[in-house]
Amino acid sequence: MTSERTETALSVVIPMYNEEEALPALVARLRPVLDGIGAPYEVLAVDDGSADKTAELLGDLRHVWPELRVVRLRRNSGHQAALTAGLHRAVGAYVASIDADLQDPPEKIPEMLALALERDLDIVYGVRNDRSTDSGFKRRTAGVYYWMMRRLAGKQMPAQAGDFRLLSREAVEAIKSLPDQQQVYRLLVPWLGFPSGEVHYQRDERVAGETKYPLSKMIRLAVDSVTGFSAAPLRLATWLGVTSFFACLGLLVFTVVAYVAGKTVPGWTSLFVGVLFIGAVQLICVGLLGEYIGRIYTAVQRRPTYFVGYDSADPAGPVGAADPVDELAVRLASPRAVGRRTPA
Ligand code: UDP
Ligand code: MG
Repeated sequence: MTSERTETALSVVIPMYNEEEALPALVARLRPVLDGIGAPYEVLAVDDGSADKTAELLGDLRHVWPELRVVRLRRNSGHQAALTAGLHRAVGAYVASIDADLQDPPEKIPEMLALALERDLDIVYGVRNDRSTDSGFKRRTAGVYYWMMRRLAGKQMPAQAGDFRLLSREAVEAIKSLPDQQQVYRLLVPWLGFPSGEVHYQRDERVAGETKYPLSKMIRLAVDSVTGFSAAPLRLATWLGVTSFFACLGLLVFTVVAYVAGKTVPGWTSLFVGVLFIGAVQLICVGLLGEYIGRIYTAVQRRPTYFVGYDSADPAGPVGAADPVDELAVRLASPRAVGRRTPA
């Protein structure tokens, strides 16, 4: 960390995946707010392997907005992994995270900062008062998700708090010290136990473009949330086993009575249903075990969830030093020699 960068008061981390349509509107609203704070800041745009013009637009914006820093991930690694990349690289005394689609109002960031300073808080959550602009499907699935997570992960998790929040440097360092790779920040951050406050806001509609969270990514987030924070599903197997055991005891009495009464031949329906039921229960339990073993497996592999391909704040190589690949390219008269290290 250079001495120049530690003076940054605020970092704003923004994960972006194919946000070329939302980007101009985001900059138009975010920049005046941040300039208005009157303290040194950086905007850390984490380009999560976008396939559209997001990288190009960010490159252009950097010429006119010196506070903009661009971190590009090598491939699409997901919202939470992009947040991880941003949190690990941000240098500010406070670090805010916000989505790129303006569903969360950037105007709330100064309010969050003021609250954190006034009450000496390490975490300020952005809590959605009203989601009437989200689709009915999104509202219902989100309702189930937050209900389930509060039951599993504990009540300290504020309902309806997404990934719009402010963290102090201490909280960020605590997150960075964790070895766990697959973070779900809306569960992890409350779990840290730092003093926290809330800022309420109304969730707006996405300003442009489509949601980048298809059903498959929503399911992945829900499964990561549950398996990352609770072993309760594993206990489900035990409870199902105990229940089946007692049901079997009852059925045993029934079969003995039926045998004594000589009524044993009909009954393939109940037998068939029993076999199907036990089979289904066993498959569910094996699947649950598999989810946890999968988590153990990825944890043991210790592979990072993302790779940074480019960070505009990384210092360039020593001035005047010859790049051997550039030299090679010149010798072979290859056009790669120019701009090899600069992003698209
Ligand atoms: N996002 C990302 N990587 C992904 C999916 C989403 O960085 O693989 C970003 C996206 O660009 C946005 C934020 O995560 O800034 C939230 O995504 P989105 O608004 O599409 O989700 P929704 O609000 O529909 O749940
Ligand atoms: Mg959104």
